[in-house]
Amino acid sequence: MSHSTISHDGVSHHPLGAGSYYCEDNPIEYLETLTQPDRPAIKIFVGAQPNSSTHIGNIMNMCTAFALAEALTKRGNKVTVSMDLVDTAPTPEKSVVYDGVSYQRSLRLTKHSAKFEGDFLRILNRLHEVSGVDFELRKQSEIMGGPGVSNILREIIANHDKLGAILEPRYKKLGLRSACPKLGCGLADKHGITNQYREDSIIFCWPVHGSYTVSLLEETGVTALELNTPLRSLVRSLIFSRDTSVSWIQVEGRDYAGFYTEQLLWRPLTGTCMPVVFYSPLILDWSGPKFPRVFMLSRRRINLSTSKVSHTSSAMPNIKSRVEISRKYTKLSRDGSRNRRSYFETIPSSRYTRNFNHYPTLLCE
Ligand SMILES: [Zn+2]
Repeated sequence: MSHSTISHDGVSHHPLGAGSYYCEDNPIEYLETLTQPDRPAIKIFVGAQPNSSTHIGNIMNMCTAFALAEALTKRGNKVTVSMDLVDTAPTPEKSVVYDGVSYQRSLRLTKHSAKFEGDFLRILNRLHEVSGVDFELRKQSEIMGGPGVSNILREIIANHDKLGAILEPRYKKLGLRSACPKLGCGLADKHGITNQYREDSIIFCWPVHGSYTVSLLEETGVTALELNTPLRSLVRSLIFSRDTSVSWIQVEGRDYAGFYTEQLLWRPLTGTCMPVVFYSPLILDWSGPKFPRVFMLSRRRINLSTSKVSHTSSAMPNIKSRVEISRKYTKLSRDGSRNRRSYFETIPSSRYTRNFNHYPTLLCE
């Protein structure tokens, strides 16, 4: 990957929008009101698939979790960070297809995840040093072995037809897996296509090595189960809601905001009226926030200490020029010499569309 470096003015514009109106002055205080007052402590959840060394997305999530924990601690709360490593995720290039059914081998089975756990731990330790916030690091078998998980799974499989259709609309099946126990095999039906559900057990079927029954009443069977992302989110949310010892806050990447969470998490949790909303893409400024309307630019901006951004596209300098031009329009508007108008009305759509498409490639130096 080639990189080039540009300078920017270090000014980030934060317009109000949607939910931001309701926690404008103190979002941490607002978040605190959403925790359960009868629970003596707060845990901040953050998760990652250890299929590579920590990347910038993992680090962003982990930093957000610790920053949030630190801010809540300063308000007098007892807060820790709890990081889940999803070592049941598929190992790259270890999936196979038999009779049209996809099978995978998990990161823990191939020991792929073990190679990278140290990298996550090092960053967690560093964030602990910086923030003073304690943390725990858990693998999937520890989570699945927790109290009440067996009951939650039994409730879910009792409604596997309905929940499967919501959580995996392509296959209408629960993404519930167990690896073939045959030594050297370990294949697991990725989408749970061949699973058969009983009241307290699941029959898993594998190519070559037949079938196997896992009892949900035995801890060894439950801890060996693997859940796909939507099912794991549902189980996790139910575990957290029933944990009377702490109040949980989940830190998720913004790609899980909106449609995904509403339809694949809130819908099965509520089971009642659920509106369908389809979100349009946001136009972002150089530092990530929604690109503001001109009238917002003059009163909501934050100076950043960062002086450089590296990127993978030669189109990036145009992003800075967009901000500069917008500021110019703001000044004109305040002087009353020109009507307020969106900056994007002033340039050809193809130009900002091209720039917008490069945002996901931004890397901080
Ligand atoms: Zn097998």
